[in-house]
Amino acid sequence: MENSLALTSQSFTYDVLIVGAGPAGMMAAEHAALAGLRVAVADAMPSPARKFLMAGKSGLNLTKNEDMATFIKNYDAIEPLRPMLAEFGPTEIIDFTQNLGQEVFTGSTGRVFPKVMKASPLLRAWLARLETLGVTLLCRHRWVGPLMAGETYSFETPKGRVQIQAKALILAMGGASWARLGSDGAWSKDFTQAGIAQSRFVAANVGMQVAWSEHMSPYLGKPLKNIKLSVAGAQSRGEIVITKSGIEGGAVYALGRMLRKNALARLDLAPQISGADLHKMISGRKPKDSLSNFLRKSVKLDATKRALVFELTKPMPRDINGLVAAIKNAPLPLKGPCPIDQAISTAGGVMWDALTPELMLKSHPGIFCAGEMVDWEAPTGGYLITACLATGRWAGRAAADYLSATARL
Ligand SMILES: Cc1cc2nc3c(=O)[nH]c(=O)nc-3n(C[C@H](O)[C@H](O)[C@H](O)COP(=O)(O)OP(=O)(O)OC[C@H]3O[C@@H](n4cnc5c(N)ncnc54)[C@H](O)[C@@H]3O)c2cc1C
Repeated sequence: MENSLALTSQSFTYDVLIVGAGPAGMMAAEHAALAGLRVAVADAMPSPARKFLMAGKSGLNLTKNEDMATFIKNYDAIEPLRPMLAEFGPTEIIDFTQNLGQEVFTGSTGRVFPKVMKASPLLRAWLARLETLGVTLLCRHRWVGPLMAGETYSFETPKGRVQIQAKALILAMGGASWARLGSDGAWSKDFTQAGIAQSRFVAANVGMQVAWSEHMSPYLGKPLKNIKLSVAGAQSRGEIVITKSGIEGGAVYALGRMLRKNALARLDLAPQISGADLHKMISGRKPKDSLSNFLRKSVKLDATKRALVFELTKPMPRDINGLVAAIKNAPLPLKGPCPIDQAISTAGGVMWDALTPELMLKSHPGIFCAGEMVDWEAPTGGYLITACLATGRWAGRAAADYLSATARL
């Protein structure tokens, strides 16, 4: 890769310029370069793909190994994403990873990870491949516009302003969370000024705030396994972690869209026992057995679940139906999502109506968008990275087709 700092005093011309070296931008670069174009990827940060690397810290969940009909239902923008995911879905993500020399494994829930779990070996191999394809990586290059096609674009760099000319522009600047990793959503202001329709960013895949009492302090950071979370008729099974500010984890993210809109969820702390069976168990409870002992020995609730039974239902009912409800339908009052900067991803961004099916801005022919900056949402489970790669690939190819169709090459 060329050293970005060595380039700053000159002006360069490319066929395709990509802004944002996250998974979407890198995939766009790969496919534009595979079409034989001169390609540069610029990123404001000192090194590429910082959020991708962060994603690998807790195990890089690349995709979910499930059939396309099931897989695609996890997106809220099924129709526009369908052709992109049909061409680059779970099978292709696995092939892509293995072609970069990284073995993958599928966990018990179908989630696919690189065997090494982290993202850095995959990123290294990918950057090497992009270099072989002739892609220029320009780090510490913050794009400052203009939002016009076929222009000379300005970048702020440590050595001052740099001008880069390109025939097509692909914007892959990410969503609006974890700003310290580069995706600060600042681009949204320029898009508003240019009259490009966007939906407001909201935190997705983020914890929900719950006002715990002091009583819950010993349980902060503890996981709740095998629970059922319900809200507005929807349910999710899986893991929840109790945090200082509330709850987080896969079971929370799976219901994110609904949890954001509701002030009350319900927890079933013993989903493996039916209500009728629990009713019978409580009826047979010995009078000298304390409720806490009964919950531990007979219902097999661990200390965190027992604490939640007492936390969420006050005062504790004495009748059997009330006790069943306290265990299987405990009210969980929600105080809204945690702050957007803590979100694993954000919903909102450039609206599909502003884009052609090729991901080109209708109002700005020659400018394409990809990745999390486009308005789609999905839970964790590998769906995020899959859609970023699929839209990046789509935009890279579409930019190449556009240049050849408009005879700009
Ligand atoms: C803690 C954490 C864990 C995650 N784990 C997973 C996971 O396991 N599986 C999964 O599928 N997803 C996961 N995600 C989400 C996933 O990482 C993101 O959805 C994905 O990185 C978005 O890709 P992107 O290319 O659209 O944008 P980003 O990766 O956000 O990249 C955008 C890039 O654009 C650059 N940029 C922005 N503005 C400018 C500008 N003006 N000029 C130049 N450059 C600019 C930024 O510096 C950044 O590098 C996780 C996220 C987090 C925070």
